[in-house]
Amino acid sequence: MKKSPWHSIKTYVYHVCTNCNAGNNIEKENLRPGKGGKRLCRECKNWIAKKRC
Ligand SMILES: [Zn+2]
Repeated sequence: MKKSPWHSIKTYVYHVCTNCNAGNNIEKENLRPGKGGKRLCRECKNWIAKKRC
């Protein structure tokens, strides 16, 4: 499922898929809302391509 973007201040990507492992493994203290001017996460991109996001 897609939701509004979030990202980690420790990485260079943002996430939009609730089933993204990398997106779900972000520690609470590093979690920020929005795209943060970053690129879309590769795993999220794959989920979207498979229409599983
Ligand atoms: Zn992701």
